[in-house]
Amino acid sequence: MYLNPGMRNQLYSELSHAVEAWKPAELTKDYTPGDRALCLQLEDGTTNSLPPLRNPDILVGENDLTALSYLHEPAVLHNLKVRFVESKMIYTYCGIVLVAINPYESIPIYAHDIIHAYSGQNMGDMDPHIFAVAEEAYKQMARDQRNQSIIVSGESGAGKTVSAKYAMRYFATVSGSSSEANVEERVLASSPIMEAIGNAKTTRNDNSSRFGKYIEIGFDKNYRIIGANMRTYLLEKSRVVFQATEERNYHIFYQLCASSHLPEFKTLQLGSADDFHCTNQGGSPVIEGVDDAKEMCSTRKAFSLLGDDTYQMKLFHILAALLHLGNVEVKEISPDNGHLTVFCELMGVAYQDMSHWLCHRKLKTATETYVKPLPKVHAVNARDALAKHIYAKLFSWIVDHINEALRSAVKQHSFIGVLDIYGCVKSACVLSLQHVFKLEQEEYMKEEIPWTLIDFYDNHPCINLIEAKMGVLDLLDEECKMPKGSDDTWAQKLYNTFLKKSDLFDKPRMSNKAFIILHFADKVEYQCEGFLEKNKDTVNEEQINVLKLSKVCLFLFRSGQTLNLSPVFQSYFTTVRGVKFDPLSRPCPQFRNSLHLLMETLNGTTPHYVRCIKPNDLKSPFTVTTACARNNRIRSICYSPVPVDRWTYQEFFNRYRVLMIQKDILSDRKQTCRNVLEKWVQDQDKYQFGKNKIFFRAGQVAYLEKLRSDKL
Ligand code: ADP
Ligand code: MG
Repeated sequence: MYLNPGMRNQLYSELSHAVEAWKPAELTKDYTPGDRALCLQLEDGTTNSLPPLRNPDILVGENDLTALSYLHEPAVLHNLKVRFVESKMIYTYCGIVLVAINPYESIPIYAHDIIHAYSGQNMGDMDPHIFAVAEEAYKQMARDQRNQSIIVSGESGAGKTVSAKYAMRYFATVSGSSSEANVEERVLASSPIMEAIGNAKTTRNDNSSRFGKYIEIGFDKNYRIIGANMRTYLLEKSRVVFQATEERNYHIFYQLCASSHLPEFKTLQLGSADDFHCTNQGGSPVIEGVDDAKEMCSTRKAFSLLGDDTYQMKLFHILAALLHLGNVEVKEISPDNGHLTVFCELMGVAYQDMSHWLCHRKLKTATETYVKPLPKVHAVNARDALAKHIYAKLFSWIVDHINEALRSAVKQHSFIGVLDIYGCVKSACVLSLQHVFKLEQEEYMKEEIPWTLIDFYDNHPCINLIEAKMGVLDLLDEECKMPKGSDDTWAQKLYNTFLKKSDLFDKPRMSNKAFIILHFADKVEYQCEGFLEKNKDTVNEEQINVLKLSKVCLFLFRSGQTLNLSPVFQSYFTTVRGVKFDPLSRPCPQFRNSLHLLMETLNGTTPHYVRCIKPNDLKSPFTVTTACARNNRIRSICYSPVPVDRWTYQEFFNRYRVLMIQKDILSDRKQTCRNVLEKWVQDQDKYQFGKNKIFFRAGQVAYLEKLRSDKL
């Protein structure tokens, strides 16, 4: 038997341990159904007892998990299984959070008639659904005159992007046809473009978004859709030049290769994706069930719908140029290197200049400037940095362009933002948790309940260690600027700064090139090797100057704005309980700012939460594998809501009338309930009387249910 410390049960917390998630224990006496407690012995010899934790039958299969008396992993799993596996219901509420389990099968619950069925309805009257959440946001926007946001989170492949798309489709459908024709259609057309340039096949998801996005859908004063605006975050640039086994580069490259035979693409001089270093590293260029040539048609159609045929071709030129650049062997650049020639033609730059600056570098001192040949490794890194830089510019240009096309001429009255958090940006998760707890705490205050919510993990100290001024990341930046800075000197600095000074930092005994960060219940060791090089990832200024002379691609460099795309990819692996960070792919300062801006925007809206769950790793329809369930995915749900049961006095009275004798029953319902509870529940901290409701600590309703069924 295993016990988890997060279960907010007094007995549990006595048994809990700060670092170990579970402690083994043995039953010292066989449990017979009906027993009030389980008798347990822990490995260290101590004994304890726990109430049995099975939820009363009336609660199983509920569409809101917070209705469960015991909100622990097996109970959540059981309840979700009953709904998901047996009844094929993918949506369940968990308090204010909509839990969506990826069915990996198309299910007929998204058609227009279903959208219309949800339109105008109350959340509680309908089955849980992404449309119900969207409707709620739409309704609250009008009712409260306040901007709204829908925050979709979950691991890769869990269904975030699909959920976000359905939410957008909902708004486009229920609020369409304002004065501007086709605005909904244009808003939806941004999806295929963004997926072509920002999604890729990974081992976890054939269509994985490698960037985060926040789309604001604008409404006029009659709450009709009038336009949209998108902000993107954390594009994974490294994918442009590197793909792991079984993975692919961004879809658009394969779409181009698959269309290379078309007359209009002849000048691109492309061929099979197998022939380009930037598209063949994963060794798996085909996605089952996807025809890249057909996808290219959708991409082009979407581009055209957003009003741009002239730039479309220019963009394809640049993308093809990147494929050729990837095939340039920087050390052996001859005066007529084939791929470099095509690259230069497509980009409209001088061959001489480009070939020179691909293998040389300008060094400036206070007094003079000189040119030095680049060692091969550095030249390769610089070439890759250039490709990534161009791609990021192109990506950001397209985003700006889409925004331009979706900008409304009419004055925007309010908006609903949909956040599709790539990799799960930690701050948003923290925000979501805080919000849930805040709501809960507010209800206690409203009801004048003296309880406080202390038992939720605060990961701020850990975030500080990593992100604060002179934290781990700052020291990395600093070391990069040092002439003799190296991975080793950085490690040394970390030891000097944090060892014995921060409880969350440690050094492995056997290594001087690694450090340990104590995330919640989880020690993670980070190897320092390669950090500095990755962190620098600098583009050769001279190469950019060559590009800026080109008429073809100047438009990419014209806008003065720095992108809100960071040079990094997935920076945080988050569970609601703790944060692991990946310093190799960390947010750069400008990302930290854009995230800050996002937080500000979100804070100004009423948030709605969708938590997507990936039920198995094999993409099998309607299957929950225990291994996945034992993982944080499902467990994390147990922590997002607050497992306190509440009943209005009347509800309580109706249900537990059998526990009352005639003289308990008064016209004052509150006093009646008090009489009953004083009789049956000894520990007064197990319940509290609010103004309108009774609140019970976890487990009490199950206990009362037991009493009730004994009486019946
Ligand atoms: P994420 O954005 O979280 O990485 P996606 O939204 O791309 O994940 O979903 C991954 C895949 O899972 C989709 O391509 C689709 O095949 C499947 N999927 C997700 N949600 C649903 C759903 N509601 N119905 C059917 N299939 C889904
Ligand atoms: Mg996605």
